[in-house]
Amino acid sequence: MRILTVVGNRPQFIKAAAVSGRLRERHDEVLVHTGQHHDDALSAVFFSELGLAEPDRQLSIAGGSNTSQTARMLSALEPIVAESDAGAVLVYGDTNSTLAGALAAAGARRPVIHVEAGMRSFDRAMPEELNRVLVDHVADLLLCPSHSAAANLAAEGIGVRQPSAGAEAKTPQVSVVGDVMVDVAMQWQPRAAASGATLDALGVRPGGFLVLTAHRAGNVDVPERLATLVALTTALAADGSYGPIVLPLHPRTRKRLDEAGLRSTLEGAAGVHVTEPLSYAAFSALVCQARAVLTDSGGVQKEAYLAGVPCLTLRDTTEWVETVQTGWNTLVDLDRDAIAAALGGKPPAERPPLYGDGHAAERCVEAIDTFVAERGIAGSQ
Ligand code: UDP
Repeated sequence: MRILTVVGNRPQFIKAAAVSGRLRERHDEVLVHTGQHHDDALSAVFFSELGLAEPDRQLSIAGGSNTSQTARMLSALEPIVAESDAGAVLVYGDTNSTLAGALAAAGARRPVIHVEAGMRSFDRAMPEELNRVLVDHVADLLLCPSHSAAANLAAEGIGVRQPSAGAEAKTPQVSVVGDVMVDVAMQWQPRAAASGATLDALGVRPGGFLVLTAHRAGNVDVPERLATLVALTTALAADGSYGPIVLPLHPRTRKRLDEAGLRSTLEGAAGVHVTEPLSYAAFSALVCQARAVLTDSGGVQKEAYLAGVPCLTLRDTTEWVETVQTGWNTLVDLDRDAIAAALGGKPPAERPPLYGDGHAAERCVEAIDTFVAERGIAGSQ
């Protein structure tokens, strides 16, 4: 069957790197890159490094508000979906590209496959949360990283046959497959944990530094929050108790720092190493060998857990609740005392496997095959 996959930003390239190769063993995949992340450091590097096939279509849509960006993507995707003879459209995660891909498919009455379904922060102020909820409610096959994600869907009535639905209505299928980012991390982390090149280049030693990433709108688009983030980063580095802070700067954050006139404060602060966004291998080496990770990223919370490195999440909610329940992740928001307390604590003794065993992509493809067979989706080759 032909499957049209829509990707657009960094974590989606990483997720697609896990799934795309396996999907192509059995199906004909057409890869559409919306352009949401277009610069080399956030896009091209992952295609080459992780062996992801070059996109078949490049839409080059970036910038603007979430609403305008999603609308432009939707307009561009409508004819692509209509002209393609794809039997289904596959989307990943929770971005504007995810929502546009899902809506374009649903509008064209093509089945929507959502990888990383069911994640919820229960914070509708997050653009990602709106995208997740909306995509899950139009999806036909929902592939969840965890049982708690599947429970979130059930609580919203997704996958539960509605008595009022007509005879023709098809109940969405929900399957727990594990997390496809974990597949990639499990493959790369053993090498990353032993790799010294990135640490040497930065002049930091294993276990003697912190990694910090921040790019969520709630942290960097709100000037007071951004100023607080800069103040606590510089103070933490100046304190010196935890070693220097390595901060690969997301372009969105760079832009906001420039607008606020704060980039030089951060870059000039003692003990703060600001870098460009790093390749997957280089960033994994930092995560695996850090004393702790401070982040507002979803993917990085999981990767820290897998690496056995304590994570401090710079938010007051998370979708990856199991990392908090196991004691490896602490929601510190931007609270200096909470950060100091979490950094002073000891990591738990137990670290049970969460989000699968590194074979989530295989399960995704199996679930897609079953779905296609059960629905009798014709789709062409
Ligand atoms: N990442 C990377 N280089 C960096 C920072 C992050 O390769 O400099 C990777 C990281 O390992 C993870 C993913 O990017 O796999 C997370 O992406 P991001 O934080 O942009 O998105 P989120 O997970 O928050 O949606």
